[in-house]
Amino acid sequence: MSTDPILASLLCDTATLSDGDVSVGGVSLRDLAATYGTPLFVYDEATLRSRCREAASAFDDGVAFASKSFLCGAMARLAFEEGLCIDVATGGELDIVLRSGVPASRVIMHGNNKSHDELERALQVGVHRIVIDNFDEIDRLRSLARPDQPLNCLVRVTPGVEAHTHEFIRTGQEDTKFGFSVATGDARRAISALRAVPSVTVHGVHAHIGSQIFAIDGYSETMQILGDFTRDDDFDELCIGGGLGVAYVAGESAPSISQWGDAIRVAARKVGLGENVRLLAEPGRAIVAQAGLTLYRVGAVKPVTQRTYMAVDGGMSDNPRPVLYGSGYEAFDVERPLAQRPQAVRLVGKHCESGDVLIDEAWLPQRTGVGSVICTPVTGAYGYSMASNYNRVPRPAVVFVADGAAREVLRRETYDDLARLET
Ligand SMILES: *Cc1c(COP(=O)(O)O)cnc(C)c1O
Repeated sequence: MSTDPILASLLCDTATLSDGDVSVGGVSLRDLAATYGTPLFVYDEATLRSRCREAASAFDDGVAFASKSFLCGAMARLAFEEGLCIDVATGGELDIVLRSGVPASRVIMHGNNKSHDELERALQVGVHRIVIDNFDEIDRLRSLARPDQPLNCLVRVTPGVEAHTHEFIRTGQEDTKFGFSVATGDARRAISALRAVPSVTVHGVHAHIGSQIFAIDGYSETMQILGDFTRDDDFDELCIGGGLGVAYVAGESAPSISQWGDAIRVAARKVGLGENVRLLAEPGRAIVAQAGLTLYRVGAVKPVTQRTYMAVDGGMSDNPRPVLYGSGYEAFDVERPLAQRPQAVRLVGKHCESGDVLIDEAWLPQRTGVGSVICTPVTGAYGYSMASNYNRVPRPAVVFVADGAAREVLRRETYDDLARLET
Protein backbone atom coordinates (compact mmCIF):
# COMPACT_ATOMS: atom_id res chain seq x y z
CA MET A 1 0.00 0.00 0.00
CA SER A 2 1.19 3.51 -0.74
CA THR A 3 1.25 4.51 2.94
CA ASP A 4 3.71 1.71 3.71
CA PRO A 5 7.37 2.68 4.13
CA ILE A 6 9.35 3.21 0.93
CA LEU A 7 10.26 -0.06 -0.78
CA ALA A 8 13.99 -0.69 -0.40
CA SER A 9 13.94 -2.41 -3.80
CA LEU A 10 13.35 0.97 -5.49
CA LEU A 11 16.69 2.22 -4.19
CA CYS A 12 20.14 1.52 -5.57
CA ASP A 13 21.96 -1.74 -4.74
CA THR A 14 24.01 -0.46 -1.80
CA ALA A 15 21.24 1.45 0.00
CA THR A 16 20.71 0.61 3.66
CA LEU A 17 17.73 2.03 5.49
CA SER A 18 17.87 2.58 9.23
CA ASP A 19 15.91 4.53 11.77
CA GLY A 20 17.10 8.12 11.26
CA ASP A 21 19.05 7.86 8.02
CA VAL A 22 19.71 6.14 4.72
CA SER A 23 23.16 5.31 3.48
CA VAL A 24 24.14 4.81 -0.14
CA GLY A 25 27.57 3.60 -1.16
CA GLY A 26 28.43 3.77 2.53
CA VAL A 27 27.62 7.50 2.72
CA SER A 28 24.77 9.06 4.71
CA LEU A 29 22.18 10.91 2.66
CA ARG A 30 21.71 13.34 5.55
CA ASP A 31 25.42 14.12 5.45
CA LEU A 32 25.37 14.53 1.67
CA ALA A 33 22.53 17.03 1.87
CA ALA A 34 24.38 18.92 4.61
CA THR A 35 27.72 18.92 2.77
CA TYR A 36 26.67 19.59 -0.81
CA GLY A 37 23.33 21.31 -0.31
CA THR A 38 20.06 20.58 -2.06
CA PRO A 39 18.75 19.83 -4.60
CA LEU A 40 21.40 17.20 -5.14
CA PHE A 41 21.75 14.26 -7.52
CA VAL A 42 23.43 11.25 -5.91
CA TYR A 43 24.61 8.24 -7.93
CA ASP A 44 25.74 4.93 -6.47
CA GLU A 45 28.81 3.89 -8.43
CA ALA A 46 28.41 0.21 -7.53
CA THR A 47 24.94 0.15 -9.11
CA LEU A 48 26.16 1.99 -12.22
CA ARG A 49 29.07 -0.40 -12.63
CA SER A 50 27.00 -3.49 -12.03
CA ARG A 51 24.38 -2.47 -14.64
CA CYS A 52 27.14 -1.67 -17.17
CA ARG A 53 28.79 -5.05 -16.56
CA GLU A 54 25.45 -6.79 -16.88
CA ALA A 55 24.89 -5.13 -20.27
CA ALA A 56 28.43 -5.95 -21.41
CA SER A 57 27.89 -9.63 -20.66
CA ALA A 58 24.26 -9.87 -21.86
CA PHE A 59 25.16 -8.55 -25.33
CA ASP A 60 28.18 -8.68 -27.63
CA ASP A 61 31.08 -6.27 -27.91
CA GLY A 62 29.80 -2.95 -29.20
CA VAL A 63 26.82 -2.76 -26.81
CA ALA A 64 26.51 0.89 -25.82
CA PHE A 65 25.36 3.14 -23.03
CA ALA A 66 22.83 5.68 -24.35
CA SER A 67 24.45 8.80 -22.97
CA LYS A 68 21.44 11.04 -23.42
CA SER A 69 19.96 9.44 -20.28
CA PHE A 70 22.75 10.91 -18.13
CA LEU A 71 26.04 12.28 -19.40
CA CYS A 72 29.08 13.80 -17.79
CA GLY A 73 32.76 12.96 -18.10
CA ALA A 74 32.74 10.68 -15.05
CA MET A 75 29.78 8.70 -16.39
CA ALA A 76 31.29 8.31 -19.85
CA ARG A 77 34.56 7.02 -18.35
CA LEU A 78 32.73 4.64 -16.02
CA ALA A 79 30.70 3.08 -18.85
CA PHE A 80 33.84 2.81 -20.99
CA GLU A 81 35.80 1.19 -18.14
CA GLU A 82 33.05 -1.38 -17.71
CA GLY A 83 33.25 -2.40 -21.35
CA LEU A 84 30.51 -0.39 -23.02
CA CYS A 85 30.59 1.85 -26.05
CA ILE A 86 28.96 5.25 -25.67
CA ASP A 87 26.04 6.36 -27.83
CA VAL A 88 25.83 10.05 -28.65
CA ALA A 89 23.15 11.81 -30.68
CA THR A 90 24.61 15.30 -31.10
CA GLY A 91 27.91 17.11 -31.48
CA GLY A 92 27.58 18.31 -27.89
CA GLU A 93 27.31 14.80 -26.50
CA LEU A 94 30.18 13.71 -28.74
CA ASP A 95 32.32 16.55 -27.42
CA ILE A 96 31.72 15.74 -23.74
CA VAL A 97 32.54 12.07 -24.35
CA LEU A 98 35.76 12.89 -26.22
CA ARG A 99 36.80 15.41 -23.54
CA SER A 100 36.30 12.68 -20.93
CA GLY A 101 39.10 10.69 -22.52
CA VAL A 102 36.94 7.91 -23.95
CA PRO A 103 38.46 7.02 -27.33
CA ALA A 104 36.42 7.83 -30.45
CA SER A 105 36.75 4.17 -31.38
CA ARG A 106 34.20 3.44 -28.62
CA VAL A 107 31.67 6.07 -29.66
CA ILE A 108 28.53 5.47 -31.70
CA MET A 109 27.06 8.49 -33.47
CA HIS A 110 23.28 8.75 -33.70
CA GLY A 111 20.98 11.59 -34.65
CA ASN A 112 18.09 12.23 -37.03
CA ASN A 113 19.53 15.54 -38.24
CA LYS A 114 23.30 15.33 -38.06
CA SER A 115 24.74 18.55 -39.39
CA HIS A 116 27.61 18.80 -41.83
CA ASP A 117 29.88 19.85 -38.93
CA GLU A 118 28.75 17.02 -36.67
CA LEU A 119 29.35 14.45 -39.39
CA GLU A 120 32.69 15.98 -40.28
CA ARG A 121 33.87 15.77 -36.67
CA ALA A 122 32.61 12.20 -36.30
CA LEU A 123 34.58 11.24 -39.40
CA GLN A 124 37.65 13.19 -38.43
CA VAL A 125 37.95 11.65 -34.96
CA GLY A 126 37.01 8.23 -36.29
CA VAL A 127 33.96 7.12 -34.33
CA HIS A 128 33.23 3.40 -34.10
CA ARG A 129 29.87 3.55 -35.91
CA ILE A 130 27.63 6.14 -37.50
CA VAL A 131 23.98 5.16 -37.41
CA ILE A 132 22.45 6.45 -40.63
CA ASP A 133 18.98 7.93 -40.33
CA ASN A 134 17.92 9.53 -43.64
CA PHE A 135 18.77 10.06 -47.30
CA ASP A 136 19.90 13.68 -46.81
CA GLU A 137 22.49 12.42 -44.36
CA ILE A 138 23.68 9.92 -46.95
CA ASP A 139 24.11 12.82 -49.41
CA ARG A 140 26.12 14.76 -46.83
CA LEU A 141 28.26 11.73 -46.05
CA ARG A 142 28.91 11.11 -49.72
CA SER A 143 30.31 14.62 -50.04
CA LEU A 144 32.43 14.23 -46.90
CA ALA A 145 33.70 10.69 -47.49
CA ARG A 146 37.34 10.29 -48.40
CA PRO A 147 38.72 7.10 -49.92
CA ASP A 148 41.40 6.78 -47.21
CA GLN A 149 38.91 7.23 -44.35
CA PRO A 150 36.89 4.09 -43.61
CA LEU A 151 33.34 4.81 -42.62
CA ASN A 152 31.57 2.16 -40.54
CA CYS A 153 27.80 2.38 -40.50
CA LEU A 154 24.61 0.89 -39.23
CA VAL A 155 21.33 1.75 -40.91
CA ARG A 156 18.49 2.74 -38.62
CA VAL A 157 15.25 1.08 -39.67
CA THR A 158 11.66 1.17 -38.45
CA PRO A 159 10.61 -2.44 -38.23
CA GLY A 160 6.90 -1.73 -37.83
CA VAL A 161 6.79 -2.73 -34.18
CA GLU A 162 5.42 -0.16 -31.82
CA ALA A 163 6.23 -0.88 -28.24
CA HIS A 164 4.10 0.30 -25.40
CA THR A 165 4.63 -0.06 -21.73
CA HIS A 166 2.71 -3.26 -21.33
CA GLU A 167 2.07 -4.48 -24.84
CA PHE A 168 3.29 -4.12 -28.35
CA ILE A 169 1.41 -3.88 -31.53
CA ARG A 170 2.51 -4.38 -35.04
CA THR A 171 1.69 -1.49 -37.27
CA GLY A 172 1.37 -1.70 -41.02
CA GLN A 173 2.81 1.73 -41.51
CA GLU A 174 5.26 3.70 -39.41
CA ASP A 175 4.77 7.32 -38.55
CA THR A 176 8.07 8.48 -37.07
CA LYS A 177 10.86 10.93 -37.76
CA PHE A 178 13.49 8.24 -37.11
CA GLY A 179 15.03 5.80 -39.52
CA PHE A 180 14.07 4.16 -42.81
CA SER A 181 10.92 2.12 -43.23
CA VAL A 182 11.38 -1.58 -43.90
CA ALA A 183 7.85 -1.82 -45.26
CA THR A 184 8.17 0.89 -47.94
CA GLY A 185 11.53 -0.30 -49.20
CA ASP A 186 13.37 2.82 -48.02
CA ALA A 187 15.58 0.76 -45.70
CA ARG A 188 16.65 -1.45 -48.60
CA ARG A 189 17.32 1.61 -50.79
CA ALA A 190 19.41 3.22 -48.03
CA ILE A 191 21.57 0.13 -47.69
CA SER A 192 22.18 0.08 -51.46
CA ALA A 193 22.96 3.80 -51.57
CA LEU A 194 25.50 3.45 -48.77
CA ARG A 195 27.11 0.40 -50.29
CA ALA A 196 27.74 2.44 -53.43
CA VAL A 197 30.04 4.77 -51.46
CA PRO A 198 33.52 3.20 -51.72
CA SER A 199 34.81 3.96 -48.19
CA VAL A 200 31.59 2.85 -46.48
CA THR A 201 31.04 -0.47 -44.76
CA VAL A 202 27.48 -1.23 -43.70
CA HIS A 203 27.77 -3.54 -40.70
CA GLY A 204 24.08 -4.05 -40.11
CA VAL A 205 20.84 -2.48 -39.09
CA HIS A 206 19.57 -0.81 -35.97
CA ALA A 207 16.07 -0.39 -34.56
CA HIS A 208 14.82 1.42 -31.46
CA ILE A 209 11.20 0.65 -30.70
CA GLY A 210 10.49 2.94 -27.77
CA SER A 211 11.20 3.68 -24.13
CA GLN A 212 10.22 2.41 -20.70
CA ILE A 213 9.23 -0.96 -22.20
CA PHE A 214 8.32 -3.74 -19.77
CA ALA A 215 7.25 -6.37 -22.31
CA ILE A 216 10.24 -8.16 -23.79
CA ASP A 217 8.17 -9.72 -26.59
CA GLY A 218 8.36 -6.47 -28.56
CA TYR A 219 12.14 -6.88 -28.72
CA SER A 220 11.95 -10.53 -29.74
CA GLU A 221 9.53 -9.59 -32.49
CA THR A 222 11.84 -6.80 -33.65
CA MET A 223 14.87 -9.10 -33.70
CA GLN A 224 12.96 -11.55 -35.87
CA ILE A 225 12.00 -8.79 -38.31
CA LEU A 226 15.59 -7.53 -38.46
CA GLY A 227 16.85 -11.09 -38.94
CA ASP A 228 14.40 -11.76 -41.77
CA PHE A 229 15.09 -8.42 -43.42
CA THR A 230 18.87 -8.94 -43.45
CA ARG A 231 18.84 -12.65 -44.25
CA ASP A 232 20.84 -12.23 -47.49
CA ASP A 233 23.00 -9.27 -46.45
CA ASP A 234 25.87 -11.00 -44.72
CA PHE A 235 25.84 -8.37 -41.97
CA ASP A 236 27.88 -8.84 -38.79
CA GLU A 237 25.81 -6.68 -36.42
CA LEU A 238 22.21 -6.16 -35.41
CA CYS A 239 21.26 -3.60 -32.78
CA ILE A 240 17.96 -3.71 -30.96
CA GLY A 241 18.23 -0.18 -29.52
CA GLY A 242 17.40 0.82 -25.96
CA GLY A 243 14.22 1.38 -24.06
CA LEU A 244 14.19 -1.36 -21.44
CA GLY A 245 11.93 -0.17 -18.64
CA VAL A 246 12.67 0.30 -14.95
CA ALA A 247 10.39 0.27 -11.90
CA TYR A 248 9.77 3.81 -10.67
CA VAL A 249 7.06 3.14 -8.10
CA ALA A 250 5.83 0.29 -5.92
CA GLY A 251 3.95 -2.32 -7.90
CA GLU A 252 6.03 -1.99 -11.07
CA SER A 253 8.57 -4.62 -12.03
CA ALA A 254 10.89 -4.66 -15.00
CA PRO A 255 12.89 -7.40 -16.72
CA SER A 256 16.61 -7.36 -15.96
CA ILE A 257 19.19 -6.49 -18.59
CA SER A 258 20.28 -10.15 -18.54
CA GLN A 259 16.74 -11.39 -19.21
CA TRP A 260 16.51 -8.88 -22.05
CA GLY A 261 19.78 -10.15 -23.58
CA ASP A 262 18.66 -13.78 -23.23
CA ALA A 263 15.38 -13.06 -25.03
CA ILE A 264 17.20 -11.30 -27.88
CA ARG A 265 19.58 -14.21 -28.25
CA VAL A 266 16.74 -16.74 -28.34
CA ALA A 267 14.92 -14.66 -30.98
CA ALA A 268 18.11 -14.35 -33.06
CA ARG A 269 18.67 -18.11 -33.06
CA LYS A 270 15.03 -18.71 -33.90
CA VAL A 271 15.33 -16.59 -37.00
CA GLY A 272 18.50 -18.43 -37.98
CA LEU A 273 21.19 -15.86 -37.18
CA GLY A 274 24.61 -17.40 -36.61
CA GLU A 275 27.09 -16.77 -33.79
CA ASN A 276 29.06 -14.52 -36.14
CA VAL A 277 26.41 -11.78 -35.92
CA ARG A 278 27.02 -9.49 -32.96
CA LEU A 279 23.81 -8.84 -31.06
CA LEU A 280 23.82 -5.32 -29.69
CA ALA A 281 21.70 -2.94 -27.66
CA GLU A 282 21.98 0.54 -26.23
CA PRO A 283 20.33 0.84 -22.82
CA GLY A 284 20.21 4.23 -21.13
CA ARG A 285 17.56 4.29 -18.43
CA ALA A 286 18.19 0.66 -17.41
CA ILE A 287 21.81 1.58 -16.59
CA VAL A 288 21.36 4.85 -14.72
CA ALA A 289 17.79 5.28 -13.46
CA GLN A 290 17.92 3.21 -10.29
CA ALA A 291 21.51 4.17 -9.53
CA GLY A 292 20.46 7.78 -9.01
CA LEU A 293 18.32 9.67 -6.54
CA THR A 294 17.52 13.30 -5.84
CA LEU A 295 17.60 15.06 -2.47
CA TYR A 296 15.46 18.13 -1.87
CA ARG A 297 14.72 20.27 1.16
CA VAL A 298 11.16 21.21 2.02
CA GLY A 299 10.66 24.98 2.27
CA ALA A 300 6.91 25.45 2.51
CA VAL A 301 3.84 23.42 3.41
CA LYS A 302 0.47 24.84 2.42
CA PRO A 303 -2.81 23.14 3.24
CA VAL A 304 -5.64 24.26 0.94
CA THR A 305 -9.19 22.96 0.96
CA GLN A 306 -8.53 20.10 -1.45
CA ARG A 307 -5.09 18.93 -0.36
CA THR A 308 -1.70 19.94 1.07
CA TYR A 309 1.03 21.37 -1.12
CA MET A 310 4.59 20.64 -0.06
CA ALA A 311 7.18 22.73 -1.91
CA VAL A 312 10.82 21.72 -2.34
CA ASP A 313 13.85 23.67 -3.53
CA GLY A 314 13.95 22.15 -7.05
CA GLY A 315 11.24 20.95 -9.37
CA MET A 316 10.61 20.79 -13.10
CA SER A 317 14.05 22.27 -13.81
CA ASP A 318 15.83 19.20 -12.38
CA ASN A 319 13.13 16.64 -13.18
CA PRO A 320 10.88 17.55 -16.10
CA ARG A 321 9.61 13.99 -16.57
CA PRO A 322 6.42 14.34 -14.51
CA VAL A 323 5.48 17.45 -16.51
CA LEU A 324 6.54 16.01 -19.89
CA TYR A 325 5.21 12.49 -19.57
CA GLY A 326 3.08 12.40 -16.45
CA SER A 327 5.67 10.05 -14.93
CA GLY A 328 5.17 8.79 -11.42
CA TYR A 329 7.74 8.82 -8.62
CA GLU A 330 7.79 8.02 -4.93
CA ALA A 331 9.23 10.08 -2.11
CA PHE A 332 10.51 9.41 1.38
CA ASP A 333 11.89 11.38 4.29
CA VAL A 334 15.61 10.70 4.57
CA GLU A 335 15.40 10.77 8.38
CA ARG A 336 12.38 8.45 8.52
CA PRO A 337 12.86 5.81 5.83
CA LEU A 338 11.26 3.02 7.86
CA ALA A 339 8.22 5.02 8.93
CA GLN A 340 4.68 4.59 7.67
CA ARG A 341 3.72 7.37 5.23
CA PRO A 342 0.17 8.45 6.11
CA GLN A 343 0.57 12.10 5.02
CA ALA A 344 -0.64 12.69 1.45
CA VAL A 345 0.80 15.80 -0.19
CA ARG A 346 1.25 17.19 -3.66
CA LEU A 347 5.01 17.53 -3.94
CA VAL A 348 5.75 20.64 -5.97
CA GLY A 349 8.79 22.64 -7.00
CA LYS A 350 9.74 26.30 -6.73
CA HIS A 351 9.00 27.36 -10.31
CA CYS A 352 6.42 29.96 -11.29
CA GLU A 353 4.15 27.46 -12.93
CA SER A 354 1.12 25.59 -11.56
CA GLY A 355 2.24 22.55 -13.53
CA ASP A 356 5.52 22.37 -11.62
CA VAL A 357 4.56 19.13 -9.88
CA LEU A 358 7.07 16.43 -8.98
CA ILE A 359 4.59 13.97 -7.47
CA ASP A 360 0.87 14.46 -7.76
CA GLU A 361 0.16 12.44 -4.65
CA ALA A 362 3.22 11.72 -2.53
CA TRP A 363 3.02 9.81 0.72
CA LEU A 364 5.23 10.92 3.57
CA PRO A 365 5.53 10.36 7.31
CA GLN A 366 3.31 12.47 9.54
CA ARG A 367 6.09 14.66 10.93
CA THR A 368 7.78 15.45 7.62
CA GLY A 369 7.59 19.19 7.06
CA VAL A 370 9.58 22.38 6.56
CA GLY A 371 13.31 21.64 6.81
CA SER A 372 12.95 17.90 6.10
CA VAL A 373 15.17 16.36 3.44
CA ILE A 374 13.04 14.48 0.92
CA CYS A 375 14.43 11.86 -1.42
CA THR A 376 12.90 10.88 -4.74
CA PRO A 377 14.53 7.60 -5.79
CA VAL A 378 14.99 6.32 -9.38
CA THR A 379 15.81 9.77 -10.76
CA GLY A 380 19.12 8.81 -12.38
CA ALA A 381 17.78 8.88 -15.96
CA TYR A 382 16.57 11.93 -17.89
CA GLY A 383 16.65 14.18 -14.84
CA TYR A 384 19.99 15.93 -14.92
CA SER A 385 20.29 15.39 -18.67
CA MET A 386 16.99 17.21 -19.29
CA ALA A 387 17.57 19.79 -16.55
CA SER A 388 17.08 23.43 -17.43
CA ASN A 389 17.68 26.84 -15.92
CA TYR A 390 14.02 27.75 -16.00
CA ASN A 391 13.40 30.70 -13.67
CA ARG A 392 17.21 31.03 -13.70
CA VAL A 393 17.50 28.25 -11.17
CA PRO A 394 21.07 26.91 -11.08
CA ARG A 395 21.40 23.22 -11.91
CA PRO A 396 22.12 20.96 -8.91
CA ALA A 397 25.46 19.34 -8.19
CA VAL A 398 25.98 15.64 -8.96
CA VAL A 399 27.92 13.39 -6.59
CA PHE A 400 29.05 9.80 -7.06
CA VAL A 401 29.30 7.69 -3.91
CA ALA A 402 31.34 4.51 -3.48
CA ASP A 403 33.02 2.68 -0.61
CA GLY A 404 32.08 5.24 2.00
CA ALA A 405 33.27 8.28 0.04
CA ALA A 406 31.55 10.90 -2.09
CA ARG A 407 33.05 12.81 -5.00
CA GLU A 408 31.47 15.71 -6.77
CA VAL A 409 31.47 14.99 -10.51
CA LEU A 410 29.50 18.08 -11.52
CA ARG A 411 29.50 21.11 -9.28
CA ARG A 412 26.39 23.13 -8.53
CA GLU A 413 25.86 26.00 -10.95
CA THR A 414 26.37 29.50 -9.60
CA TYR A 415 24.77 32.80 -10.52
CA ASP A 416 28.02 33.57 -12.36
CA ASP A 417 27.46 30.47 -14.48
CA LEU A 418 23.98 31.70 -15.28
CA ALA A 419 25.38 35.06 -16.37
CA ARG A 420 28.25 33.71 -18.45
CA LEU A 421 26.52 34.07 -21.82
CA GLU A 422 25.56 37.69 -21.36
CA THR A 423 27.37 39.89 -23.85
C1 LIG B 1 16.75 7.15 -26.21
C2 LIG B 1 17.44 6.11 -26.98
C3 LIG B 1 18.06 5.05 -26.32
C4 LIG B 1 18.00 4.86 -24.84
O1 LIG B 1 16.70 4.71 -24.39
P1 LIG B 1 16.45 4.24 -22.87
O2 LIG B 1 14.97 4.25 -22.77
O3 LIG B 1 17.09 5.25 -21.99
O4 LIG B 1 17.06 2.91 -22.72
C5 LIG B 1 18.77 4.14 -27.07
N1 LIG B 1 18.85 4.26 -28.41
C6 LIG B 1 18.26 5.27 -29.09
C7 LIG B 1 18.41 5.34 -30.55
C8 LIG B 1 17.54 6.22 -28.40
O5 LIG B 1 16.94 7.20 -29.08
